[in-house]
Amino acid sequence: MENQKKANGAHILALPYPSQGHINPMCQFCKRLVSKGTKATLAITSYISKSTSLKPDTVLIDTFSDGYDEGGFADAGDIDEYLARMKKEGSKTVAELIRKYQETNHPIDCIVYDSFLPWALDVAKNFGILGACFFTQACAVDCVYYYVHHELLKLPVSTLPVEIPGLPPLDLSDMPSYISVHGSYPAYFQMVLNQFPNVEKADFMFINTYYKLEETVIDEMTKMRPMLTVGPTIPSFYLDKRVENDNNYEINLFQYDSTNCINWLNNKPAGSVVYVAFGSMVSLPEKQVEELAMGLKNSNFHFLWVIKASEQENLLQKFMQDTSDDKGLFITWCPQLKVLSNKALGCFFSHVGWNSTIEALSLGVPMVVMPQWTDQTMNAKLVEDVWKMGLRVKTDANGIVGREEIEGCLKEVMVGERGNEMKKFSSKWRDLAMEAVCEGGTSDTNINDFISKLNKKS
Ligand code: UDP
Repeated sequence: MENQKKANGAHILALPYPSQGHINPMCQFCKRLVSKGTKATLAITSYISKSTSLKPDTVLIDTFSDGYDEGGFADAGDIDEYLARMKKEGSKTVAELIRKYQETNHPIDCIVYDSFLPWALDVAKNFGILGACFFTQACAVDCVYYYVHHELLKLPVSTLPVEIPGLPPLDLSDMPSYISVHGSYPAYFQMVLNQFPNVEKADFMFINTYYKLEETVIDEMTKMRPMLTVGPTIPSFYLDKRVENDNNYEINLFQYDSTNCINWLNNKPAGSVVYVAFGSMVSLPEKQVEELAMGLKNSNFHFLWVIKASEQENLLQKFMQDTSDDKGLFITWCPQLKVLSNKALGCFFSHVGWNSTIEALSLGVPMVVMPQWTDQTMNAKLVEDVWKMGLRVKTDANGIVGREEIEGCLKEVMVGERGNEMKKFSSKWRDLAMEAVCEGGTSDTNINDFISKLNKKS
């Protein structure tokens, strides 16, 4: 068995947090490892496995339980309950998976676990195998949480701007929302702080970013432990094209029809369309949806809007009756990378989730950003002031972004001076993303080093 195991090379078990924005980077990381000869099994929850049809063919899929096999997160009372049960059932069922593979000629050598699931490191250590922590948010955001965890930044924030080495000076509204709105979403805040108590025992720390994008803060964090950049983890087709057939995120938690929206985009002039999407979690207040609809309509640009079916109907009836059929297209989900890379795209109106942000930077698409919560507020600061690739909308006294503000920002980015400036930066971030994942780039080197260390241990 020993010889056979060596012939097979190392085998990693990847454990993403069960949401779209966490499965995508982890699955892509697995595809990279597989393309370099390492065996990778992606463990998704039983619920997600049952409820999705598309599965990657290079990466092996297995399942663990979060304790909610029938209904997933929706069946949990709240996030506290969900996380507690996932820790209990997840620890048990991931251990069962490890045991199952121990009986084969390709036992697991390392668990690569989402930093939101720190209990997975205990499972790895109990079996005497390696544990690698995978961070799926920006390094800048992780750095702020690290400071809070170690009480280097005390809450509530009392002195502004907040000065943290490696980061620009931060006002309250530039911080992650759990900090700027002190006391909000305590269970989620605890989850992001829980990334740190045991991370120093992890054998590797990976992060879905690229070195040149966050150089100064990565250097600062690396003083604690090497923060190994492995991003952007977007399908290889959009950057280096070295991974065969890697042109899509293959595990989609939402159904979609790609042909319709791509055909629609293909018939629009270059740079003429605003793509509007808020990721997989955000649900906008009704008033905000109305203002956005009117802002888009008044701007008079073409728009492609990812929005729930129920909200579409309401909008069409109330606001868009007189919008010509071809001006806008509503869809419930789309292949976002295909959309962002289409020539018709002029701008991405986004919630600035980290995946959407790094995708837009890697594909050179300027943004208008309307952050809602969690890391998005800080991503917005970086997009606007550090990477100079977007404009952040301003909210009114009620926390709503009005139609005039939306229209004005869209015009500024689509046809104004700010848009022209962003275009200058777009090739810079795109080229640096490409450089990171090409042979010998920082992310490529980190992945190769990991594989060689893994193979020595296996
Ligand atoms: N996405 C997609 N189609 C859509 C909307 C989003 O494929 O219509 C993908 C997007 O490319 C990204 C992920 O879903 O990879 C969303 O992650 P992000 O971090 O941007 O936001 P979250 O969903 O975590 O809030």
